[in-house]
Amino acid sequence: MIKNNSTVRVSCHCGSIQLDVFLANGLEEIIRCNCSICSRGKGFAMVCVPSEALKIIEGNESITEYIFNTATSPHNFCIVCGIHTHHQSRSRPDKICINVACIDEVNVKDYNNVIDFDGINHPRDL
Ligand SMILES: [Zn+2]
Repeated sequence: MIKNNSTVRVSCHCGSIQLDVFLANGLEEIIRCNCSICSRGKGFAMVCVPSEALKIIEGNESITEYIFNTATSPHNFCIVCGIHTHHQSRSRPDKICINVACIDEVNVKDYNNVIDFDGINHPRDL
C-alpha cells in the first residue's frame, strides 16, 4: 500500500515517460469516472494531486496532448505506447489527475476505496 506523504514513480507502458508524483494523502481518494474518454480507457482510475506535486523526470518529448470537447482538460499520452499517464482536472483546475494504473507496483484492484465520479454528467457541462 502507498503511504501518505510518499513520492511514487509513474510510468507509461514503454517507459519513455517517467514522472515522480508526491501523494500527500496516498491513495485515499481514487476516482473512477464514467465519461466518454475514461470509460474507453479500460475503466480509467485516477488520483488527483496539486499541479506542483508532479515532476516530469524523463520523456517530456514523448508526451502528447489530446484536447477535446471544451478544451479545458488536456489529456497526456505517450506517443510511443499510447498510454494515458495524466491530465488536467476539469472539476478542479489546480489539480493534475494521475492514472493510478501507471503507478509502479500498484494494482488498482488492490484498492476498494474507489469513488465513482459521474463525468458523463460533468457539472461543468450542465
Ligand atoms: Zn510509452
